[in-house]
Amino acid sequence: MTNASVAERPASNAFEDALRQFDAVADRLGLDAGMRDILRHCKREFTVNFPVQMDDGSVRVFTGYRVHHNEARGPVKGGLRYSANVTLDEVRALSMWMTWKCAVANLPYGGAKGGVIVDPRTLSKRELERLTRRFAAEIGLLIGPDEDVPAPDMGTDAQVMAWIMDTYSMMHGHSVPAVVTGKPVTIGGSSGRVEAPGRGVLFATQKACAYRGVPLAGASVAIQGFGNVGSTAAKLLDDAGAKIVAVSDTNGGIYKPDGLGDIDAILALKHEHGFVPDGHPGEHISNADLLELPVDILVPAALEGQIHARNADRVRAPMIVEGANGPTTPEADAILDEKGVFVVPDILANAGGVVVSYFEWVQDLQSFFWEEDEVNARLRRIIDRAFDEVTAIRDAESCTMREAAYMLAVRRVVEATQVRGIFP
Ligand code: GLU
Repeated sequence: MTNASVAERPASNAFEDALRQFDAVADRLGLDAGMRDILRHCKREFTVNFPVQMDDGSVRVFTGYRVHHNEARGPVKGGLRYSANVTLDEVRALSMWMTWKCAVANLPYGGAKGGVIVDPRTLSKRELERLTRRFAAEIGLLIGPDEDVPAPDMGTDAQVMAWIMDTYSMMHGHSVPAVVTGKPVTIGGSSGRVEAPGRGVLFATQKACAYRGVPLAGASVAIQGFGNVGSTAAKLLDDAGAKIVAVSDTNGGIYKPDGLGDIDAILALKHEHGFVPDGHPGEHISNADLLELPVDILVPAALEGQIHARNADRVRAPMIVEGANGPTTPEADAILDEKGVFVVPDILANAGGVVVSYFEWVQDLQSFFWEEDEVNARLRRIIDRAFDEVTAIRDAESCTMREAAYMLAVRRVVEATQVRGIFP
């Protein structure tokens, strides 16, 4: 189970940030008013309040969302988040970012996202299962292999996906593995899917280092967030020769300028104590401190809105690789650009998860499964290609990596919308 990695609630509104990022690129591309209006809206927004019987016999009502931003390029795709801080605007932003992320990687998907307002750590396993099955039944109207394919996100994991797959299958009278991705391998999950978001961060970082002419070997790295993305990225970057000097989770972080050492040992400590800093000899630091460390590469892999107008100026890393969705606000982006910080944007850097979700869906539809080597090699090809396409635009337009990635993505979605035409 991956948990929210920072306690602080982001000050900005993620959907407003997502719209501002889109508007800036719509201006650059000279999109007409109608096309802008289409892309600024989420196509479908579903809210459901549903009861769950708790272990003590009481009943609690939970609120959940599933939002489809755009389906011009194919069925919609995106994760399901369980967090006490989920809001409809957050889910809208995350669904819009999924549209752009799938388009940057050139996957045949539109964007979606879902969430339930719940801290999963406060539920027993049976309660979590009942909540998930009831929510799966409620969104059963929307999801399906050709319609909308959920996946794990913050607070959900392969077990939650297995319950959704089973609930949907029971409602249809036969097994439908392709209705969700990020499932356990035994029921149609893909090899390499759990590590994919972190592996995508590694591949994007390797490309970024090559593009900037800086060696990854020996580079110091600070990672905010030690959930699925952050912990896997830490392990793989460490294997690739980088020096992980700081990691953190909700409770704060640890810092050791000459390297934290064995990442597996930190994971073991986290499992033992519940939180990263407990029991580690490194200097204990706050999440805010971690973002301002003098490192070569900063990987925000927690929540949105972490690098903002008030701290962007204090970021000392010359390179940021965004493992989280939306970790940098538009105001912060402008400050970082001014400072010459090279930012590999979320919709490129953290696309690894959805790319391997795509592979999982393809494997499920064909009932033909691939070796992990093949999954990883294909993932590398897609991240490398997307990175090259984005840097080609950056070089031609003299813009930021985010603007270039948005230009690539928005153009692809606009083209699909235009060629399909407006119904009726
Ligand atoms: N939740 C992940 C993301 O934000 C993966 C989505 C998916 O695989 O559909 O990209």
